Amino acid sequence: MNKYKSLIIICFFLFTLCLPKAVANIKNLNLLGKTIVLDAGHGGVDAGAQSGLITEKNLNLILVKKLEQELISRGASVYLTREGDNDLSGTTTNRKKNDLYNRAKYINEISPNMYISIHLNSTTSSNWKGLQVFYTTKNKENKKIATTVTNYLKENIANVREIKKDNTYYMYRLIKSPGVLVEAGFISNPNDNYLLRQEEYQNKLVNLLVDSIEIYFQN
Ligand SMILES: [Zn+2]
Repeated sequence: MNKYKSLIIICFFLFTLCLPKAVANIKNLNLLGKTIVLDAGHGGVDAGAQSGLITEKNLNLILVKKLEQELISRGASVYLTREGDNDLSGTTTNRKKNDLYNRAKYINEISPNMYISIHLNSTTSSNWKGLQVFYTTKNKENKKIATTVTNYLKENIANVREIKKDNTYYMYRLIKSPGVLVEAGFISNPNDNYLLRQEEYQNKLVNLLVDSIEIYFQN
């Protein structure tokens, strides 16, 4: 019996040793009270860009779901424009425009503190590379978000491009809430394509993006 008692005591002692570690692993809740909409580009019949082993719509959704988990773990309320392999179009004519209109409508209805659209870039030249953040001047916060995200990413990963103002995108001109479009890399570039398929890189990118979102809200 004494043997069991000592065993229980040892187990309890080991358990308490583990406690501070467990507490340390609980994330900060710095995003408590923040509502964020994540928009995975394309979906369904609209596959987006395709290069090598990457189909844009699928990877957009993978990144968005990882972002969702990370944001929730830091206290944010998160909404997704799509959770599966579908677009938001309700029509077959003007399908693309209708899809984009419905995404903007969804975001405006939620009126979040921030929206983030995730896309992947592709061009005919394989030389273009790197992540790039685009913003419209529709909301005055957009440039600040783009700058904060970009500056932070530049400190932590290679090939981050300069922010780009673009008021030509139909969808983003409709959205009143603050937010940006993140083109996470050029899948037409072999190195970007390879990196974006690595789960380790995906997780790193997602963590950095959420860190930068936190920094934006802290300032
Ligand atoms: Zn796209």
